[in-house]
Amino acid sequence: MDFELSEHHQILQSSLREFFAREVAPHARRWDEEERFPTELVPKLAEMGLLGVRIPEAYGGSAMDTLSYAIAVEEAARVDGSLALTIASHNGLGTGHILAFGTEEQKQRYLPKAASGEWLAAWALTEPGSGSDSAGLATTAVRDGDHWVLNGTKMFITQGSVGGFCVVLARTNKEAPKQRGITAFVVDHGTPGFRASKHLLKLGMRSSDTAELTLENVRVHDSARVGEVDRGFIDTMKILDRGRVSIAALSLGLGSAVIDMAVGYAKDRKQFGKSISEFQAVQWMLADSKVEMDAARWLVWRAASLADQGRPYSREASMAKLFASEAASRACNRALQIHGGYGYTREFAVERHLRDAKLCEIGEGTSEVQRLVIAKHALAG
Ligand SMILES: Cc1cc2nc3c(=O)[nH]c(=O)nc-3n(C[C@H](O)[C@H](O)[C@H](O)COP(=O)(O)OP(=O)(O)OC[C@H]3O[C@@H](n4cnc5c(N)ncnc54)[C@H](O)[C@@H]3O)c2cc1C
Repeated sequence: MDFELSEHHQILQSSLREFFAREVAPHARRWDEEERFPTELVPKLAEMGLLGVRIPEAYGGSAMDTLSYAIAVEEAARVDGSLALTIASHNGLGTGHILAFGTEEQKQRYLPKAASGEWLAAWALTEPGSGSDSAGLATTAVRDGDHWVLNGTKMFITQGSVGGFCVVLARTNKEAPKQRGITAFVVDHGTPGFRASKHLLKLGMRSSDTAELTLENVRVHDSARVGEVDRGFIDTMKILDRGRVSIAALSLGLGSAVIDMAVGYAKDRKQFGKSISEFQAVQWMLADSKVEMDAARWLVWRAASLADQGRPYSREASMAKLFASEAASRACNRALQIHGGYGYTREFAVERHLRDAKLCEIGEGTSEVQRLVIAKHALAG
């Protein structure tokens, strides 16, 4: 397969690179230090079409393909991993679930507001007691006439505090096998009993909003159900496939950016009377990172292209996420090493990228879970 970008994708890439360099790069370090979600940026993201990436134009979106989506997330991550995570989770998870499985009424209600940035989207699968074993969730939704009553706690929810709506996965059938008794509901922020109970402080991705959510007798009409009863987990697996491509793209942005930083620093920094870029030990670190991030790019773009062709890509999404996230962490570690003591300070973005990259090995399925998925495909083949 040829992965040279089309002219259309190249134009998108260069205009987004210019946008993020202008609007985000000067502020990313401060937002990270303040551990604050940059609400002021939301209208500009919407204007660039970055909050309705896959939403059809009829609902106010920019109707991009998956490859464009991956390019957008990569370009954001080059300067700010947290912002890239916001773009990825808003588009891929919360909005993506409604786009893929919502009713026409739900699409009309949520998608235009998501695309305009009026309502950011959250998506709540993980719980305090169920992470990798996500089908083991304990939040319940009990039918009461035309309504459902939801109770439970959700953990690590991106846009949990700042979102306008949240797609919540809840157990609707305790008798069925655990993957076959889960249903999705969309809950508006402000619904009585639904609240962000804790803002979580993190190692990295500090200006991405992460919250614990509590649902206490949250009452929603059956029209808030997204997809069929008891089929929510099956739909969720499809949502996670595309989500994994975006986390892989995020890794690609972080890893590619730190190589550029390390090259620039290595050329400038002099020790023993010469530029440290002349030392073979430094060159080898750069070479290893270059090879790994190029290999990651092929995996990410392959998975995105398969998605765009409507072909199966679950295995390829896991391969891309596994390899790109671990390669990005290695690239960040090497880049920090090349920066020496200065890399360990907050003067240089490389330490922030290293902290942000670690999340990519955990969110939307840990590296271990990706290996399980890939092995399952290998053993079935
Ligand atoms: C910043 C951030 C944002 C997030 N955003 C969201 C969000 O928006 N929505 C959402 O629903 N979730 C979100 N998550 C949750 C994320 O998807 C989970 O953290 C992740 O799936 C891992 O679950 P866990 O943290 O409970 O770890 P655990 O599942 O407890 O895993 C702990 C360790 O055990 C390993 N392990 C577990 N099971 C196995 C196994 N079978 N074989 C081998 N090893 C195993 C894991 O790989 C890991 O190393 C977010 C998390 C973070 C940190």
